[in-house]
Amino acid sequence: MIAAADFNITKVQRSKLNDINLENIPFGKYFTDHMLEVDYEDGEWKTPEIKPYQPLLIAPSLAALHYGQSIFEGIKAYKNPKGEANVFRPHDNFKRFNISAERMQMPQVPEDIFIEGLRLLIELDKNWIPNQEDHSLYIRPFMFSTDEMIGVRPSDKYKFMIILSPTGPYYNNPMRIYVEEQYVRAVPGGVGYAKAAGNYGAAMYATAEAKKKGYDQVLWTDAFEHKYVQECGTMNVFFIIGDEAITPDLGAGTILAGVTRDSVMETLKDIGLTVKEKSLSIDEIIDAHKSGLLREVFGTGTAATISLIKELRYKEYVMDFDVDLWKIAPEVKSRLNQIRYGLAPDRHNWMFKI
Ligand SMILES: *Cc1c(COP(=O)(O)O)cnc(C)c1O
Repeated sequence: MIAAADFNITKVQRSKLNDINLENIPFGKYFTDHMLEVDYEDGEWKTPEIKPYQPLLIAPSLAALHYGQSIFEGIKAYKNPKGEANVFRPHDNFKRFNISAERMQMPQVPEDIFIEGLRLLIELDKNWIPNQEDHSLYIRPFMFSTDEMIGVRPSDKYKFMIILSPTGPYYNNPMRIYVEEQYVRAVPGGVGYAKAAGNYGAAMYATAEAKKKGYDQVLWTDAFEHKYVQECGTMNVFFIIGDEAITPDLGAGTILAGVTRDSVMETLKDIGLTVKEKSLSIDEIIDAHKSGLLREVFGTGTAATISLIKELRYKEYVMDFDVDLWKIAPEVKSRLNQIRYGLAPDRHNWMFKI
């Protein structure tokens, strides 16, 4: 058990915050004063360090660069009207991180390092959490292999880190989405359910191709028939069809179990919709659209919370939506934001106080 006293903490001499305007900051560009760093060696985690944010010195033979044992998480902290910092469901990200670690043959990170480290780090850099609407502090825990040796095998050494980035709104404009029929993100038996770095590199080519055609993102479909929908870019996807909210089920291991996805499902139930996790084919979506039952389509994830989809294109069939008329997705987003910013009671116990 690692307690607060067991962290080595070195503070900056002078905060960089004096030089940065926290209004309308771009996503992921600025980092706070401190970071957490801890090494795994000889089968155990060493003393975690919290120290000034700084570059790492790495060997060219660093295993992670060659064979991709590298995983990450994305979490957010918010300020409430009293100026207190709260983190949204970090224990869920902690559990998912270790699921990713297991799949990538990497060591488990103990809760005392992940959660307590995150808490200490945010406490130290609390002034970096912006006060404005739709702003927050993005938390990026990650781990990668650090053996200095070229040979395909699991590394003996690893580094776990947490960095923090103050952030404004992220892809807020309604999106045009291209239903992908050629490239795939995940297959049963693969690593789609893990937040493994390689999944994102592997998706970039297909996304760039969709961008050339004028789309913002792809809607991934299953690898065998390109028929069953999976996720929208790096977000989970929801379809409101009649009085039901439908999102693809996690059964095949091809979908990342989003913490936002889970929170959106709970919130949809709170507002009286029937929520179904099931396999959903593009044909069912088109049928619902033709019969006027397809009401809303949106993506969910920590970075954007909810992103509305204004156009969905499958082959030559284009589904256009007037997102200004939508009620459900904006209501869900507003409810989640109220909880995050401490403006509504946290009935689900989602907020973790720093
Ligand atoms: C991170 C991620 C999501 C969203 O997960 P959240 O926990 O809601 O942020 C969805 N899909 C993919 C592929 C992701 O990497």
